[in-house]
Amino acid sequence: MERLNDRNCNYLYINEEIRPLTSWEKFRQVCKRSIKGELFVGLWIVFREMVRKGNLATVKYPFEKLPISPRYRAIRKLLRLLESGNERCIGCGLCEKICVANCIRIDTSLGEDGRKKVSEYSINFGRCIYCGFCAEVCPELAIVHGGEYENASEQRAHFGLKEDMLTPIDIFKAGGQKEFPGYGSLSENASSLIKKTPLAYKEEKCTN
Ligand code: SF4
Ligand code: SF4
Repeated sequence: MERLNDRNCNYLYINEEIRPLTSWEKFRQVCKRSIKGELFVGLWIVFREMVRKGNLATVKYPFEKLPISPRYRAIRKLLRLLESGNERCIGCGLCEKICVANCIRIDTSLGEDGRKKVSEYSINFGRCIYCGFCAEVCPELAIVHGGEYENASEQRAHFGLKEDMLTPIDIFKAGGQKEFPGYGSLSENASSLIKKTPLAYKEEKCTN
């Protein structure tokens, strides 16, 4: 086997006449071609990183879990009004319309007081891609994405009904619903951000 240098290329010319024939010759050729110094350098780096203290790149899931951002987009929740405890959802249907995966179904009816009531609200979590559009579009800040991401199911159609997503009334009464629990809700510095709109600057200038 010789290297072709005539045209400055790196191709190897395999000489059929020196092809290994015996098992020993074949073994020697395999060793010569496969065992290079770089292999041991790579193995040494892997071993060094493996035994280095405090250098763990993985955790023993599900026994250990990494902390996730408070605004992580996982399973959706429906919130209640803080003052009255009533459902925030007014059944406007915007989330159903904007859903890219077409997995939200809402049914509304006329209540005894003549107001629209949300009689059915379901979401197919098997189809939801957690894009967050529904939470962004909701005018009542009723939808937030929580941090519950373990939603494996044995059924293809894994539906979440309103009762599963809405804050349970006993937990709500015990103060278990926080105002800023996840993606889709107002952030804690929302007021300061609103004040930075061009309109606010204009007003500032006028008053000065
Ligand atoms: S966008 Fe909000 S208020 Fe409108 S139907 Fe959906 S959850 Fe209810
Ligand atoms: S997160 Fe996206 S895919 Fe899931 S229900 Fe909302 S709009 Fe649909």
